[in-house]
Amino acid sequence: MSELADMIRRNMVAMGEEEKEACIHCGTEWYRIHYRDGVCHQCQQLGRPGRTELAARRRTFRRTLAFGALVIGSLILRMVLR
Ligand SMILES: [Zn+2]
Repeated sequence: MSELADMIRRNMVAMGEEEKEACIHCGTEWYRIHYRDGVCHQCQQLGRPGRTELAARRRTFRRTLAFGALVIGSLILRMVLR
């Protein structure tokens, strides 16, 4: 009986660990349910962005970079072809 209780306890511990995740900013491990978009409560209070917003920012950055390269490239081409 105590062996069964021990097995249940170990299973519960394993399940609890599986639900934990590290915050993407400070690395604090806590239960996933308390995290919003990979960000712990403390970092949410500090206004740090979540995974989705970071990905959106990276996309915007890449697009801006690509546009900048296009503008500079066309300017150089115009100078060369003049
Ligand atoms: Zn954090």
